[in-house]
Amino acid sequence: MLIAGNWKMFKGPAAAGDFCRALRGASFPDGVDVVVCPPFTSLAEAVQVLAGTDIGVFAQNCHWDTEGAFTGEVSAPMLRELGVYGTLVGHSERRQLFGETDESVGRRSRACLDAGLHVIACVGETLDEREAGKTGDVLRRQLAVLEQDDNLVIAYEPVWAIGTGRTATPEMAQEAHERIKELIDVPVLYGGSVKPENAAELLAQPAVDGALVGGASLDVDSFVGICRAATPS
Ligand code: PEP
Repeated sequence: MLIAGNWKMFKGPAAAGDFCRALRGASFPDGVDVVVCPPFTSLAEAVQVLAGTDIGVFAQNCHWDTEGAFTGEVSAPMLRELGVYGTLVGHSERRQLFGETDESVGRRSRACLDAGLHVIACVGETLDEREAGKTGDVLRRQLAVLEQDDNLVIAYEPVWAIGTGRTATPEMAQEAHERIKELIDVPVLYGGSVKPENAAELLAQPAVDGALVGGASLDVDSFVGICRAATPS
């Protein structure tokens, strides 16, 4: 069971340090792995404060090349040099706001895995796609660029549930995760308005292997509450 907190563009180094010091002191159930995904400028602080713990630090994005003329991007060797353990790729905010495509998500994922980073690759349908009965097609298309790997995890994040307070029902999550697992044999996290109050129910679904948490991961108590709601599979 893996619980990952995506901080999005919140928490500079000072706030990240405070959060990680509080997280260091928390206890988690056996079998629950915990990851935080700070913004780039807070990665070094998070790595330093969490050194010697089992809590992993992930970036939120990573380029496929090792270096070059790619203004605004960072590479897997740069993240590894900092002590970063993995990265998100293909978050829906990157797909919707920054022109990320299935093809670029596939390239990012492959290169990061090859460079020794762990990867959480995000997939999920929009509300229009769900209502048009296209969820399965969208997931198939988004997953087609991702190759099975021991260090790859998929996050199923229905776009209509991200930051909206509108959560998929446990049955909806279970159904989508089953579809994903028919296409790729890796752990699948659920993401979309996960909170301490709804986490236990979602995480109890047999095909749900953890959660990718946005808003509710910004507060230590609420993030730890979600981690504690996880029953190891
Ligand atoms: C996310 O950012 O990956 C996410 C799921 O956000 P939220 O939990 O706020 O819906």
